[in-house]
Amino acid sequence: MNCKLCPHKCGAFRTKDTAGGKCGLSLTPKVARIAPHFWEEPPISGVKGSGTVFFSGCTLNCVYCQNYKISAQNLGTPITAEKLADEYKKLEEQGVHNINLVSATQVLPEIIRSFEIYKPKIPVVYNCGGFERVETLKALESIVDIYLPDFKYADNALGFEYSGAENYREVALSAISEMFRQKGELSLDDEGIAQKGVLVRHLVLPNHTKNSIEVLNILKENFGDLLTLSLMGQYTPAGKACEYSKLSRKITKREYQKVLNHLLDLEIRGYSQELSAAAEEYIPDWDYKAE
Ligand code: SF4
Repeated sequence: MNCKLCPHKCGAFRTKDTAGGKCGLSLTPKVARIAPHFWEEPPISGVKGSGTVFFSGCTLNCVYCQNYKISAQNLGTPITAEKLADEYKKLEEQGVHNINLVSATQVLPEIIRSFEIYKPKIPVVYNCGGFERVETLKALESIVDIYLPDFKYADNALGFEYSGAENYREVALSAISEMFRQKGELSLDDEGIAQKGVLVRHLVLPNHTKNSIEVLNILKENFGDLLTLSLMGQYTPAGKACEYSKLSRKITKREYQKVLNHLLDLEIRGYSQELSAAAEEYIPDWDYKAE
């Protein structure tokens, strides 16, 4: 195919054996980890964990990515749609609350095929950077139950400098609008576990509280009371972050509190995070091996 899966719309020729385009991957998915994961938001991880599948590659190229080895360096093991379907079953048998697909867009055709082979009985979460095409999201409507997108930047210059994304703000807003059109606001079961809807994430970056405050304004203006937001404070310099002077430290309590206060002023419902979560031990081992 001439790939236009993500907003980069490279048009690169890609097959299961031929890699190409900005993401540099073939259409055969590679995974770095498949396991219950306990560090997502409470309605996603619950007590039994989120059945997380970390795919290699990404539609974004964030210089500070905590998962840099898999997102930018494409570390991972190739996997077939059949094997993926088996892995969903295994996770389900372990009792996880959901199947959580992390950064899957660049290999979407095989992922869609994996759900044609086996559709789990638990919710399917689509965990992404928000830089998605509406046309591509439409193909997920009957598969995904919960969208977990980031909305990273109100300032497009930052989106380009730090993530290599053009028009991030407009592209992500259109994508999140489509997610809300499909799934509506976040709905939880009696035990507080997410069953359907959209949970938007925003990671506060050091020296960029202005961007974060504008992000909250834009989200509130566009999605009003539908919005549930997770405000993340666990930024820690990773990947190439230390090459960027403004990104080379953790965020301060003051920075986080300033953004949190604005979220409270806007009466946005959601989740906040202890800054003590800013530690590298939360980066899992990329240890998936196909049996
Ligand atoms: S998925 Fe990869 S090849 Fe396809 S448009 Fe996006 S970056 Fe380009």
